[in-house]
Amino acid sequence: MTRSEADLARFRAELRAWLEASCPAAMRTPMVDSEQFWGGRRPSFFSDDVRIWFQRMAERGFLAPTWPREYGGAGLSDAEAQILAQEMKALGCRRPMSSLGLWMLGPVLLEYGTEEQRREHLPGIARGEIRWCQGYSEPGAGSDLASLQTRAVRDGDHYVVTGHKVWTSHGDKADWMFCLVRTDPAAPKHDGISFLLIDMASPGIRVEPIRLISGSSPFCETLFDGVRVPVRNLVGRENGGWEIAKKLLQYERSAISHLRDANPDEGESLDAMAKRALGVQGGVIADPVLRDRVIQANLDFLCNRLTLQRSREVAQAGRGVDAASSMFKYYGTELSKRRKELRVVLAGTQGLGWEGDGYTPAELQLTRDWLRSRASSIEGGTTEIQLNIIAKRVLGLPD
Ligand SMILES: Cc1cc2nc3c(=O)[nH]c(=O)nc-3n(C[C@H](O)[C@H](O)[C@H](O)COP(=O)(O)OP(=O)(O)OC[C@H]3O[C@@H](n4cnc5c(N)ncnc54)[C@H](O)[C@@H]3O)c2cc1C
Repeated sequence: MTRSEADLARFRAELRAWLEASCPAAMRTPMVDSEQFWGGRRPSFFSDDVRIWFQRMAERGFLAPTWPREYGGAGLSDAEAQILAQEMKALGCRRPMSSLGLWMLGPVLLEYGTEEQRREHLPGIARGEIRWCQGYSEPGAGSDLASLQTRAVRDGDHYVVTGHKVWTSHGDKADWMFCLVRTDPAAPKHDGISFLLIDMASPGIRVEPIRLISGSSPFCETLFDGVRVPVRNLVGRENGGWEIAKKLLQYERSAISHLRDANPDEGESLDAMAKRALGVQGGVIADPVLRDRVIQANLDFLCNRLTLQRSREVAQAGRGVDAASSMFKYYGTELSKRRKELRVVLAGTQGLGWEGDGYTPAELQLTRDWLRSRASSIEGGTTEIQLNIIAKRVLGLPD
């Protein structure tokens, strides 16, 4: 049922009042990566405010605004969901939860899952109770993902999974994994892949964090040794997983571009930082060369934001995501790299510190943020792979 303008105006007013009353002041400041809440059976909240904000939004189904109520969502129409997004933005509300389940698996289950699978998995995602990880990459399958070798062999009403996934982000904290497995080794490589949902508590799974040069361990290796997975956890048809895998990647790329857009600079804006670092002359950034770079980066950011907004409206008008998500992923992540590098440049030698005295916490974050921005142009498919997809699937150029 479509709602009249008056209904939508009432909805907006009620929502605004609710958000004002429900969103703690600390949750109306720009998102800080380390303060994100990721949900799961072993939830970890940075602060009480993070917990309270998450719980209030989850109770109303607002973590998954457009999902039907029977799957734990709020059952909002596209117009209502847009109002929710607008009102949250107007108040500066943080997103209450980050979740691969919400961004990637949920939309795929709505499209390809059985009714039983939706009822089993979507409410846990929408209430933040189950944390999902992504089992795509393998030591021999990154950009060439279809070369994956993790085997799933049918044994009665189970698959027996054996193999090795790598770069599983937060695999050690996840409750379930959506995973690509090879079910027909004799078929052409794209035609022998299936999409399985695997409970990370299953016997035979070993998760080993990978320690990075930065000292942190957001990635894991995930090893499967004869793991028994019920056949009812197969999404789509056996050997039909490649289409679903690609669709999920489109949702992932779309999520990466929207997240970069929502949170371009942690803390101080690029403009304010440039004025502080370089001084102001005649009301503008004093250094003409760096002023030019800052203005260009800001203009490019605004153009990208407007284009993303248009694409979001097209998606909400029922067309979903498509290969164009590669354009946004490519442009958004490359732009983010440029902006983060510019922040390091603006800070001069203070931007190069990694640890120790003589730097503020914000300065110590600059190089880390710049390095993390480089990772975004790799995760979800590298920049080069996005350019290949744009050439083939968006522009229709020959091989
Ligand atoms: C922050 C982060 C989080 C991640 N999280 C996950 C996760 O949760 N789950 C998961 O499964 N994976 C995850 N990954 C892995 C990610 O999907 C892969 O790193 C990515 O697909 C690239 O694969 P690769 O690292 O094996 O690089 P390679 O495929 O070996 O590529 C190496 C270089 O060669 C280039 N290249 C390769 N093929 C081509 C080509 N045909 N044309 C032009 N250039 C080419 C690439 O662009 C790249 O520059 C994550 C990665 C990062 C950085």
